[in-house]
Amino acid sequence: MKIYNLKTIKNDNNVRLSVSIDSEKLGCKELWFSTSEKFAHGLCETRLDGFLVGVIFPAMQYGENIHVEGCVSSKLIFNLNNYVVPILMAFFSSCKRIEITATETNSEQFDCSGVGTGFSGGVDSFCTVFDHYDLVQDPSYKINSFLFLNVGSNGRGRTEEELLFAGKKFYSRHDYLRKFPNELGLDFIPLDSNLHSFHPWGHQLTHSLTSVSGALVMQNIYRKYFYASGGLSYLELFKFHEFLLNRDTALIDPILLPLLSTESIDFISDGAQYSRVEKILRIVDYEPVRRYLNVCVHYGESYENCSVCSKCCRTLMTLNLIGKLDEFSHLFDIRKYKKKAELEYVCQQVVRQNKDPFAQAVVKLAKEKGIKLPSPLISYFLVFLFNFARASLPLAVLSKIKTMLKLG
Ligand SMILES: [Zn+2]
Repeated sequence: MKIYNLKTIKNDNNVRLSVSIDSEKLGCKELWFSTSEKFAHGLCETRLDGFLVGVIFPAMQYGENIHVEGCVSSKLIFNLNNYVVPILMAFFSSCKRIEITATETNSEQFDCSGVGTGFSGGVDSFCTVFDHYDLVQDPSYKINSFLFLNVGSNGRGRTEEELLFAGKKFYSRHDYLRKFPNELGLDFIPLDSNLHSFHPWGHQLTHSLTSVSGALVMQNIYRKYFYASGGLSYLELFKFHEFLLNRDTALIDPILLPLLSTESIDFISDGAQYSRVEKILRIVDYEPVRRYLNVCVHYGESYENCSVCSKCCRTLMTLNLIGKLDEFSHLFDIRKYKKKAELEYVCQQVVRQNKDPFAQAVVKLAKEKGIKLPSPLISYFLVFLFNFARASLPLAVLSKIKTMLKLG
């Protein structure tokens, strides 16, 4: 795989930085990142670090060595070849050993003082903001702008249609979420891209690499960048490693992120100090969370909480267990959750409690709070029933059964 032909193109109010990628598997494709003119000074035009990290996983899937025709960070290329490639091979069995070379390397530290993080309105994101904006005095560690990336979290990019859909959702979510950064007086920097078209396996598998890729492309702004972890604590990452193995780079964030740093930007893996439940407890009374919490992962056009997807359910079940559900009724459709999802979701957690860390944490919380959940026997039976009904009955009938069983 060859990365070459770095170009900067100004288009209306946007500036696009792109390279050509020549791959035996993919042919010749353009990889681009684009931001508004206001933030174009952040685009790194002197090193191809971001593009390199963006394609390392695809190259390892296809077993293609990477050659960069251009400059990359000496520290980054050293860490990629010596540590990152072996780490990815160890935790993702489909990754093959590759070698990375570049025509030029340097150790330049750019003139910048940005302390950034992504902002999605989710639990991990708000926990990082609470800890490293609200509670911090030291300006060298206090978040001073947010980056909003389109590298997979807004939808897949396997076809032109999917790219267009994700792009549209990216801009509408940016518009929706910007109120919070505006309130703090912080920039909310949009960085659009087609990087997800190089990651057809979906966002969850490689989100740490694709997000770091975007932050490296904006390396002229950031000195430090907090990356909010996927929701497991340090101990849970060890205990439940099989749950994430081959499925999610969050498993290795605490070791991977520092190795993707350059001489100019430090990546900090944040959030594994807490379990998911501890995070919710930590931020539940943080006032902006009451107005902006947005956890949804459904792939529809809307950016509002759907109240029935796995992340909405996880959040709502936890809020219910701590007696705060009604306080979030303006952000979630509680009736819809109760009617369409709650019983099945709660039973699933009981069934999965020994192999799923999130399930184990909410079941433990219920015990601590003295709240009785359905027994394992009943839960197994109901989950079986729901799965059977889903496979054999029309949706309307399934919904009727749920309403009857629920209990509400
Ligand atoms: Zn949802």
